[in-house]
Amino acid sequence: SYRKGGYHAVRIGDPFAAGRYIAQRKLGWGQFSTVWLAYDTQSSKYVALKIQKSAQQFAQAALHEIDVLSSIADGDPSNSKCVVRLIDHFKHSGPNGQHLCMVLEFLGDSLLQLIRFNRYKGLELNKVREICKCILIALDYLHREVGIIHTDLKPENILLFSTIDPAKDPVRSGLTPILERPEGGTLNGGSTMNIIEKKLKRRARRAVANIGVRRDSMGVEAPKPARCLDGIDMRCKVVDFGNACWADKRFAEEIQTRQYRAPEVILLSGYTFSVDMWSFACIAFELATGDMMFAPKTGQGFSEDEDHLALMMELLGKMPRKIAVGGARSKDFFDRHGDLKRIRRLKFLPLDRLLVTKYKFSETDAREFLEFLSPLLDFSPEKRPTAQQCLQHPWLNLRSPDGQSNMDAGMSKLKI
Ligand code: ADP
Ligand code: MG
Repeated sequence: SYRKGGYHAVRIGDPFAAGRYIAQRKLGWGQFSTVWLAYDTQSSKYVALKIQKSAQQFAQAALHEIDVLSSIADGDPSNSKCVVRLIDHFKHSGPNGQHLCMVLEFLGDSLLQLIRFNRYKGLELNKVREICKCILIALDYLHREVGIIHTDLKPENILLFSTIDPAKDPVRSGLTPILERPEGGTLNGGSTMNIIEKKLKRRARRAVANIGVRRDSMGVEAPKPARCLDGIDMRCKVVDFGNACWADKRFAEEIQTRQYRAPEVILLSGYTFSVDMWSFACIAFELATGDMMFAPKTGQGFSEDEDHLALMMELLGKMPRKIAVGGARSKDFFDRHGDLKRIRRLKFLPLDRLLVTKYKFSETDAREFLEFLSPLLDFSPEKRPTAQQCLQHPWLNLRSPDGQSNMDAGMSKLKI
């Protein structure tokens, strides 16, 4: 995709916005963009530079994202609402065309990486609570004050942020700014990665948001205990507003990434803010158990959508008939009694049993967690609590003994 209309190829040391930002290394990419760590020579801080593909439709999407991010920033002058901050934006001309660029505050690893680094075992409930609080603060702000639906909440789109400022503490963070292009810097951030870049990558990985994360499993150096910010609260921010929409100007029918998609989206029954609450519940479950709550697959004689609906009902109980038959696509899946047409025998396993048997939660942990979680997984969107209501839930302020993942806690209780 590094061709006309596509990505912009970046070399380490490349200047942007008349030399204000200097590219340091690649942080990630999406369908529409590549994201680079850059050094802001004006503020002496590191920033994330999101460089959009140049074709018209991508530019359009970037303009929309800039519009949304600007409203988000305007309503949150103290930058305390757990949403990524847009610092600047500009156009950059390159051989593949003109690219819209967004300058965002530099954040750390995603929750997906955090879950992986924890070997899919689930985080301690105390950490799950801290992360949930941040996501809820973000959602409450986005929904109630800005009036937008994120529509693509998932662990990949929630990034941790480290409380060390790499520009102020280069030793601890392991980052030193590169101000010009090094000899032999590679194109595109390195399909043939050179030594400088490898070294930088290793240093930066060690540095960024190594909050209680075990990296040894990934073959990357484990952080030294002093670097492990275990005692510090987990904090994170919501990113990727490329698909966000104003609640009063919805345009897409099919929204959300498969596993985090709400039932009303599958059924085409119309949606609102509560679709984000469904995704949020799926994320909370995944953080606590290490497994996706729903991972539907196409099977013999049924579609991924139908499997998804079956999985939901197996875990949450039968969908009320009125809801099952109420969507524009209901007839594709349900008969008039509200039973799935092609998946006839459901294997019901209520969530509380699942948490206790498969994930070794204690009965108490399971009960308390589900008091928080279950209302969010209501098949009727209007019955789901809002982010504001969730923030009041006592579960968020419980504390279990430190240093135990809920799995360990469950295990030790079993042994007793
Ligand atoms: P897309 O809309 O193309 O999916 P995203 O905004 O999700 O783009 O960014 C793509 C990836 O870049 C993310 O998954 C993440 O790895 C990285 N990234 C995005 N924003 C930041 C940021 N502010 N700080 C650090 N990394 C970021
Ligand atoms: Mg993304």
